[in-house]
Amino acid sequence: MKAAIFVSARTPTSPFVEIEDVPRPQLEAGHILLRVVACGVCRTDLHIVEGDLHPVQPRLIPGHQIVGEVVEGATPELPVGTRVGVSWMGGVDGDCWFCQHGMENLCDKPIFTGFTVNGGYAEYALARADFAFPLPAGLDDVHAAPLLCAGIIGFRSLRVAGVEPGERVGLFGFGSSAGLAIQILQSWKCEVYVVTRGESHRNSAISLGATWVGKEDELPPVKLDRAITFAPSGKVVVSALTSLRKGGVVAVNAIHLDEMPAFDYDTLLWGERQIRSVANMTRQDARDFLKIARSLNIRPKVTVFQLADANNALLAVKHETEEGSVVIVP
Ligand SMILES: [Zn+2]
Ligand SMILES: [Zn+2]
Repeated sequence: MKAAIFVSARTPTSPFVEIEDVPRPQLEAGHILLRVVACGVCRTDLHIVEGDLHPVQPRLIPGHQIVGEVVEGATPELPVGTRVGVSWMGGVDGDCWFCQHGMENLCDKPIFTGFTVNGGYAEYALARADFAFPLPAGLDDVHAAPLLCAGIIGFRSLRVAGVEPGERVGLFGFGSSAGLAIQILQSWKCEVYVVTRGESHRNSAISLGATWVGKEDELPPVKLDRAITFAPSGKVVVSALTSLRKGGVVAVNAIHLDEMPAFDYDTLLWGERQIRSVANMTRQDARDFLKIARSLNIRPKVTVFQLADANNALLAVKHETEEGSVVIVP
């Protein structure tokens, strides 16, 4: 099969991946083999190929927003031909303290798709059957792919921030994940304040109904109940904190931050303001979000790249040149 391979020993500059012919994955117990029909590109993929996160395997197929059809390893719940989604959380051990306490997103021995195991920048991918989610009909492949990480983890961020209907919510950074989260916030009648660097992202926020949109050095004109940061920048977390009312929460939806600048406790954190990180996802997050996505008809804007063009897909995410989400098709 054709696959995009990231070699971890290389210098982290473009081209990030090489397109190669490699053997199809062999079916393993408890797994399904998928024919990949689309795979979303996430900022986490960029952190991997740019060397911010370090995969253990020397040659890795990235990609953790996989839409695929079951071709081998079918189960009664997932017969051959079933269209499923596979996300970042590719498996857990099920018996660590966190798994036993309903926090499988924090599992001590997690499997991460496209990071600790091969992912979906390929024609075929292997996935654990118990971490594959049947996808609703009515949502085509390329529009389903960004729901699988950007969507699910964006939704989890709203939960971690504790967003209530009607609240004032800030979104700092407006890529794929924020573009989906705002559609849920709209349905909850929230006022949404967007701060983002890319002009295409600001246009996208306006078209999706943001109450107010500003550039990266601007702050919302009102105090926020909740804020979610999507940009991989500690400075942005402090900006979000600066915008918060007393008792408000900043949820940090970023697997990696450049660094956290020092900030003033008395004015920024005092008053029971909170900063919380958002780590991974549970299967329940996935099921709940996919149900909401279907009922609200949540659709990402997508730009599609061929697998052979995977490097340009990654560059599009890096430089924020496209509105919405970037998706690779094999
Ligand atoms: Zn566990
Ligand atoms: Zn992701």
